[in-house]
Amino acid sequence: MVYKTEDDQFIIHIPPRIVNRIIESAVLARPNEFAGVLVGFFTQDLDAAIITEVLNHCAWTARTRANIDVDIINDKLAEIWEQSKGREFFLGYWHSHPDNEATPTDIDDDNFRFDNIEEPEVFSLIIGRAFSPEDLKVYLYVKDAENKKVDRLSLERV
Ligand SMILES: [Zn+2]
Repeated sequence: MVYKTEDDQFIIHIPPRIVNRIIESAVLARPNEFAGVLVGFFTQDLDAAIITEVLNHCAWTARTRANIDVDIINDKLAEIWEQSKGREFFLGYWHSHPDNEATPTDIDDDNFRFDNIEEPEVFSLIIGRAFSPEDLKVYLYVKDAENKKVDRLSLERV
């Protein structure tokens, strides 16, 4: 599946097998939320992100919260980084909204506030309560270093 920003400046490729794994984990965790980490790379001219892997490991989940298992995720990210010779790395997160649409909540946005993210751009995928590929929404949080804020872009499916 391919999504793009409104200004056509940026696209993200999410292979169907990745979408399926997100949906599988979301369904298994229901009625609780679930979350994971997106792995991939940027194309050479930096206008596209390609997702190659998803790491679905939570330390704990609740109805409206899911905390990823940082230890497991970091080990796997290090492994992938090494095996891919630095080509593939962390690109963002996904989480489910078992009771709601795939719209970011205030808490979701707060997770991506300026002091909370290290990378200049972080993707956030949300799978809405219908848990079908059409309910997967893609957001990109972009750090604005000058103004010390983070802008949230919505990507649309093409
Ligand atoms: Zn959320």
